[in-house]
Amino acid sequence: MKFFPSLGLGLLLWASAALAAEPVSIVTTTADIAAIVKAIGGDRVAVESIAKGYQDPHFVEAKPSFVRVVNRARMLFNVGLELEVGWLPLLIQGARNPSMTVVDLSSGIAVLEKPSGPVSRAQGDVHPLGNPHYWLDPRNGVIMARRVTQELKTVAAADAATFDQNLKSFEMDTTARRKRWEEQMAPFRGAELVSYHKEWEYLVNWLGLNVVGYVEDKPGIPATPRHLEELVQTMQQKKVKALLASNYTNPNVPKSVAEKTGAKLVILASSVGGEESVRTYGDLFESIVGKLTGALK
Ligand SMILES: [Zn+2]
Repeated sequence: MKFFPSLGLGLLLWASAALAAEPVSIVTTTADIAAIVKAIGGDRVAVESIAKGYQDPHFVEAKPSFVRVVNRARMLFNVGLELEVGWLPLLIQGARNPSMTVVDLSSGIAVLEKPSGPVSRAQGDVHPLGNPHYWLDPRNGVIMARRVTQELKTVAAADAATFDQNLKSFEMDTTARRKRWEEQMAPFRGAELVSYHKEWEYLVNWLGLNVVGYVEDKPGIPATPRHLEELVQTMQQKKVKALLASNYTNPNVPKSVAEKTGAKLVILASSVGGEESVRTYGDLFESIVGKLTGALK
């Protein structure tokens, strides 16, 4: 009988070690948030993104496999501002996982283009609550990382010190690189650009660039021929050098606009995973800044 207590203790120790080793299951709506969660959570989290970085995050198919992912998750991080309104509510409803915490990362962000009057979804505008593409400013990435750290501590309190340490590294690395990106882009301050979708506002706001027109009539609304004609005229008058489009955009229309005006069509990854080489949040800006400096010089 003597060995039973020690066996019991052994089992208990084994079980608690196994519990401690089990990473917390986290789901994110976008790959950028997943990259930040990974940077903070390290091997203490198992993170999966619903949207891939090469997909339009406004329009994602709410597949049954995603419902299963959400069903298993302890915490879900999303961009908010209705970026995911077309698909996330369906996944959450289908997953029936009331113990999962949902964290909307937009709550700590200084939102651009916030409507001052009553919200209108007129003609299908996909940015009714303000511009949701805020991860495209590395200063916002740091704000997102702080919030992620705070929230991860609520589901893995034992790892709080690790998360704090990882946050410190993330902040230092992002800030150091941000200063270098700013230096690289400094010669192009005030440069006039056109973009396909209204998704580079945070980026241009950060870098001091100037968007003078959009291919889409309104966010999410395809251009009319008349709108395109006016855009081409504006671009010719202003001698716009670059037309930015995300790599998930159908390139046909922006390509023809660029050709008519002599502007360079600059296809950018707007999310982590949008290009093979963009694997971390920092890689995203390395890629964007590299392409912008190439096109504007
Ligand atoms: Zn958008």
